[in-house]
Amino acid sequence: MKFIRLASVATAMTLAASMAACGSSEKTVDQGSGGSTDNKGALIGVTMPTRSSERWIADGDNVKKQLEGLGYKVDLQYAEDDIPTQTQQLDNQITKGAKLLIIASIDGTAITTQLENAKAANIPVIAYDRLIRNSPNVDYYATFDNEKVGVQQATSLLTGLKILNADGSPGSAKGPFNIELFAGSPDDNNATFFFNGAMKTLQPYIDKKQLVVKSGQTQFEKAATLRWQPKVAQDRMENLLTSTYRNGAKVDGVLSPYDGLSIGILSALKSNGYGTAAQPYPIVTGQDAEKASVKSIIAGEQYSTIYKDTRELAKTTVQMADAVLKGQKPTTNNTTDYNNGVKVVPSMLLQSVVVDKSNYKKELVDSGYYTEADLK
Ligand code: BGC
Repeated sequence: MKFIRLASVATAMTLAASMAACGSSEKTVDQGSGGSTDNKGALIGVTMPTRSSERWIADGDNVKKQLEGLGYKVDLQYAEDDIPTQTQQLDNQITKGAKLLIIASIDGTAITTQLENAKAANIPVIAYDRLIRNSPNVDYYATFDNEKVGVQQATSLLTGLKILNADGSPGSAKGPFNIELFAGSPDDNNATFFFNGAMKTLQPYIDKKQLVVKSGQTQFEKAATLRWQPKVAQDRMENLLTSTYRNGAKVDGVLSPYDGLSIGILSALKSNGYGTAAQPYPIVTGQDAEKASVKSIIAGEQYSTIYKDTRELAKTTVQMADAVLKGQKPTTNNTTDYNNGVKVVPSMLLQSVVVDKSNYKKELVDSGYYTEADLK
């Protein structure tokens, strides 16, 4: 107890000191007032959720490199999906005198205290990729069009099953097809956007009985995967196969919202006899165009992924940060969709691309995102 009290007194003192040290900070974060250069070379705190997924490593590297290119100093931290670690990293960045925070949160509701401290120290906050929820102290949000990602995942499931042609016209297959649905982490705001976008697209086919969710598990809560963990998805797929599909029925398609989960799902399928000429894998979707999954797509296992160019997301975020630190108003393109429970956060939404075996070269190699060798 005593330690905790002392620690928090120390934090408060450092906070007060850092607030005093940046005496001109009121002026510099007064967004829209324009013109201040007081933040030249300032320290920017960047927090990412985990190194266990390639995409976040690329995000962190890209943001850091681009900020440093503009002369800023960067403190980049990863929390390995542990909430207390992330809150501590934010506390440290505030204490160290960061002038702006870029946060890809683990749980979008768990950092309210840190954001209050940031606000008290006049430190603006940009939510990176994932919306920070239930706090007024988030200034901007840079992300992809998350609902559209879900629509793309579902559309590619339909294309893979040949219910739709690539151009969106009705395909040669009528079904009925057995599918199962997976969703992301319930504490990540994006997960519901992906799932809702996907369900909006799949529901008419479920209603027509062209698609059958044989387990009956169509609710987000049932489909959700805490912390996006591949093992959790793998275990759930195993359970579905040994219960719902026990009597010889086959799974034809799996809606998976993230490549890491797709890998877990495919491995459960493999240990239950899928992945042979007689019993090919079902159509399995994904997201992030992670190398292992692109290789799996090339090998004809995973069907598709959603490519979100992390270089572009970094660029947008860095532009936002730079504008805010110069007292300017950053560019946004959506001021309606991302209500965080307290306020609508002005957002910049980027566009994602469906990638499958037919276009991975064009999208991923020709664009320089990967080399041919990366995908060998
Ligand atoms: C991101 C996805 C990613 C997922 C798991 C989401 O917040 O938007 O791109 O697949 O987290 O890391």
